[in-house]
Amino acid sequence: MAEELPPREAMEFDVVIVGGGPSGLAAAIRLKQLAPDAAVCLVEKGSEIGAHILSGAVLEPRALNELIPDWRKKGAPLETPATDDRFLYLTATRAFRLPTPPQMHNTGNYIVSLGNVCRWLGQQAEALGVEIYPGFPAAELLEDSGRIAGIATGDMGIGKDGNPTDTFQRGMELRARYTLFAEGCRGSLSKQVIRRFNLRDDHDPQTYAIGIKELWEVPAANHKPGLVEHTVGWPLDARTYGGSFLYHFGSNLISYGFVIGLDYRNPWLSPFDEMQRFKTHPEARGHFEGGRRISYGARALNEGGLQSIPRLAFPGGALIGDAAGFVNVPKIKGTHTSMKSGMLAAEAVADALAAGGTGDLSGYETRLRDSWVWQELSLVRNIRPSFAKFGLYGGLAYSALDTYVLRGKAPWTFHHPHPDNETLLDASSAQRIEYPRPDGALTFDRLSSVFISNTNHEENQPGHLHLADPKIAITLNWQRYRSPEARYCPAGVYEIVGADEGNPQLQINAQNCVHCKTCDIKDPVQNIDWVTPEGGGGPNYPGGM
Ligand SMILES: Cc1cc2nc3c(=O)[nH]c(=O)nc-3n(C[C@H](O)[C@H](O)[C@H](O)COP(=O)(O)OP(=O)(O)OC[C@H]3O[C@@H](n4cnc5c(N)ncnc54)[C@H](O)[C@@H]3O)c2cc1C
Ligand code: SF4
Repeated sequence: MAEELPPREAMEFDVVIVGGGPSGLAAAIRLKQLAPDAAVCLVEKGSEIGAHILSGAVLEPRALNELIPDWRKKGAPLETPATDDRFLYLTATRAFRLPTPPQMHNTGNYIVSLGNVCRWLGQQAEALGVEIYPGFPAAELLEDSGRIAGIATGDMGIGKDGNPTDTFQRGMELRARYTLFAEGCRGSLSKQVIRRFNLRDDHDPQTYAIGIKELWEVPAANHKPGLVEHTVGWPLDARTYGGSFLYHFGSNLISYGFVIGLDYRNPWLSPFDEMQRFKTHPEARGHFEGGRRISYGARALNEGGLQSIPRLAFPGGALIGDAAGFVNVPKIKGTHTSMKSGMLAAEAVADALAAGGTGDLSGYETRLRDSWVWQELSLVRNIRPSFAKFGLYGGLAYSALDTYVLRGKAPWTFHHPHPDNETLLDASSAQRIEYPRPDGALTFDRLSSVFISNTNHEENQPGHLHLADPKIAITLNWQRYRSPEARYCPAGVYEIVGADEGNPQLQINAQNCVHCKTCDIKDPVQNIDWVTPEGGGGPNYPGGM
């Protein structure tokens, strides 16, 4: 039995923000602009701000212009204006240029490293007096009389057996009048808050995609700074939603990523291998040839849109950014909407603090519904679900109708009929997919990829991937679906061993986890629960990602 741990020490704040991504940092900055005396603390599970940030990223600067109008003077790292948009449909050997939909026009936007933008936002927040604690995951909700009263950070130095080791340090209670959850897509505490306060009642399920990304340095001759290219079609079939992005920026850098909707049906599909083989297409190859892969990572993103945004406020706090789900899918952008949601929540918190600090944050919901975020998401609400309903070709046709003729004002709303974990076919009735072997120059395997994500976890700690019922890994996942987690995990965390000897067992290599959250989303019966590992664990994405 694990030893009883000493009590935790507590610190008191007006506001605690969980997560140092664009939404959490924008909320912190706005709050200190409006209420300079408020005590604001932000915790981040990555080893530094930016370490866990993975995004395209083409940034629409609308929210940033509102938050820090003189960002240029203050040295914000927005250096490459987007100058050329290309949207392509691929067959196995050819590429056809399609008209670029209006949502995908990027004039006025910038190709950035979102990690670097967050590092810079972190500096702005600290200059205003926000206390930032990187390396401290929020591991537990604190609740007093039905109201969220802050969070507790995770203990450090607990061994695999659950007992303290020589490096043991008890977590801290960070108590607050208001707690803003800015954990990004599928936040582990946000998930608990949504359940605890039934925030999803009468709303569609959230739906997701996995985005896998590589950062490349390429010869100057291949580099077209400002080019923003997206593709649909090959290598995916017409029932699987997804496509690639290729953004040329900085000094000879290309941000390449592949996104696949997690409502995919074929359990043999491997998002990682689709992402690798895309680079062998004649259209794609030329971007990378002679280049060098610098970094790798993966992260889930929200795709549910307006229909899937849960109730946002609850006693003692609110959800902001991707923790709620403000990604504009046709635009492939969520940074500007996430930042704006953080700013609006901060305005509601400043009002609530001025009124005594005990009221709720329903003012945040009202502000959001009156904002450009709501208007933007409302106009595109039918586009992503139309691809689930009609497939790639029907979805493209419907999207053209919805955009050019109905102008987003259709008198109907398509819904998301089920969550992504319910879509897999049995392995026996789905077509097996054979993927080519990596060549080590253009295409790679999972382990060499994880290596360049600089992922690191203390080995002697309790596993952070909890199986509610370990038997299900074999009795259901293996027997019915042939363990799809071994394919959808982009980091090779889940491995089936012993199958050849007739004794399949699931081995979990938790130290490789890049915190993408896909297993928490896609496991067929939600048997996998992702919880925060020891502080600072996970990827260490470099500047540029
Ligand atoms: C592959 C990909 C490509 C994308 N491309 C674009 C693009 O080109 N343009 C665009 O605008 N948007 C893009 N997006 C979406 C965009 O990245 C998100 O909408 C945006 O980052 C959301 O910001 P956020 O602050 O809500 O969450 P995040 O950026 O996910 O940040 C959350 C932060 O909270 C931390 N955290 C989580 N849980 C805890 C915890 N319990 N304790 C402490 N810290 C915690 C995380 O480590 C992270 O640093 C893309 C997303 C992906 C995955
Ligand atoms: S274990 Fe889960 S969260 Fe970690 S990398 Fe694999 S799929 Fe992503």
